[in-house]
Amino acid sequence: MTAKIIDGKAISEFFRAEYKLRTDRLVAKGTRPGLAVVIVGEDPASQVYVRNKAKACEALGMHSEVHALPAATTQGELTAFVERLNADAAIHGILVQLPLPKAIDDRAVIETIHPDKDVDGFAYANMGALVIDESHYPPCTPWGVMKMLEHEGIAVEGKHVVIVGRSNIVGKPQAMLMLKAGGTVTVCHSKTPDLKRFTRDADILVAAVGRARMITGDMVKPGAVVIDVGINRLPDGKLCGDVDFESAKAVASAITPVPGGVGPMTITMLLGNTLRAAERVAGLRDSAAETMLA
Ligand code: NDP
Repeated sequence: MTAKIIDGKAISEFFRAEYKLRTDRLVAKGTRPGLAVVIVGEDPASQVYVRNKAKACEALGMHSEVHALPAATTQGELTAFVERLNADAAIHGILVQLPLPKAIDDRAVIETIHPDKDVDGFAYANMGALVIDESHYPPCTPWGVMKMLEHEGIAVEGKHVVIVGRSNIVGKPQAMLMLKAGGTVTVCHSKTPDLKRFTRDADILVAAVGRARMITGDMVKPGAVVIDVGINRLPDGKLCGDVDFESAKAVASAITPVPGGVGPMTITMLLGNTLRAAERVAGLRDSAAETMLA
């Protein structure tokens, strides 16, 4: 079997076209969705991510602001900055690019973002809401995985979903979203003995580890769907995922590549969350009834 390649770029374009229409509609009613991205320090990878997020916003006709603060910014200065963005009516979504410099407490800063503007979905309020299926802003990467599966017509209900990785930004929220979708979920991590025993039993296998090509074809059940969240830089500068693409492709029924798989979906879901935040402010969404939607 040779797997179908799930094209994250094309699926992103599909969702962005819909978001563009909704943005145009909102702008015509007097509200331009606005995203503020705050970056502290000089990390080059983070700067690339931040620029890409701003560009994607602008392409949809959204307002975007990038605030690059010096590495010496203190915790108090950063939280005061976030408070100003909380009070700014032109800003519907706030994203603080992680990781922050060591002297700053990431969690304290995330908790400063007003939950209605927490478009990354990382604050306690949104994480808690996710657990009881009521999140307005599911974290972008795992939400992007769900939207990819939905777009490809791959049902989760009744499937055994195995997630490798239990981080707060990918593995755990992914498990919650898969549970909500009716999957039977197993979460593996660095303390899991005999990982292959679990991955070989997955109908849908999600790899979110950060170790280049660690999931090899012999760890994949024939016909499984393989979603590779990992982004690893090889010594030659090229990017690769957590899955050994060539050997897994020969066994799986569908697989995401790296790059061009989950990565573009993450930014697209950030746009979706920002748009939804603006629609809520404009009264176009019933906050009580409308949760976990596109
Ligand atoms: P973390 O480092 O926070 O988490 C990694 C997880 O993998 C941990 O739960 C860890 O287990 C587990 N793990 C480590 N080694 C093994 C092993 N040998 N066997 C099984 N499990 C293991 O990473 P993130 O969740 O933040 O990111 C994971 C990957 O996804 C990275 O490559 C990152 O770059 C990428 N990523 C991609 C995004 C995208 O847009 N495509 C967005 C976010 C992340 P334990 O908890 O026991 O330590």
